Amino acid sequence: MLFLILVSSCLAGIECRYDGTHRLKEKIRCLVEEKKAVTVCPELLGGFFTPRQSAEIVGGTGKDVLAGNAKVIEKSGRDVTDLYVKGAYKTLEMALKLQVTHVVLKQFSPSCGSKAIYNGTFSGEIIQGEGVTSALLSKTGIIVLSEEDLYYL
Ligand code: SF4
Repeated sequence: MLFLILVSSCLAGIECRYDGTHRLKEKIRCLVEEKKAVTVCPELLGGFFTPRQSAEIVGGTGKDVLAGNAKVIEKSGRDVTDLYVKGAYKTLEMALKLQVTHVVLKQFSPSCGSKAIYNGTFSGEIIQGEGVTSALLSKTGIIVLSEEDLYYL
């Protein structure tokens, strides 16, 4: 069992998703209650509020956003790349401060997705790749898992 991990707030039951909902996983909530996990929402750390518009990465994946080769765009067309990058760096700061080696982040999110994200067309189509926060954390050597990997914990 890992000592301390960082987890997506919405997986712990916090209603911080763009539409004001959560994606509770009981196992995650238990880890938080047992003080074995700390919650984080990169989008709120970046300066967003709930509810907010949905957004997707256009032109690549989180790695491409960090490299300046792709953008995060809201459904209305507003470029919110800077806020997503800010949230990713604030999450990294938190992970380093807490000295976590593993994080469990919500799949498909443009911030938290670790294996798959939406393809940038707002059509529900999925592509392989990471969100912005996942890409930054994994680049620094932190192991990024999703709620689908809970059996590792
Ligand atoms: Fe959940 Fe991550 Fe989206 Fe916040 S940014 S609502 S933690 S998936």
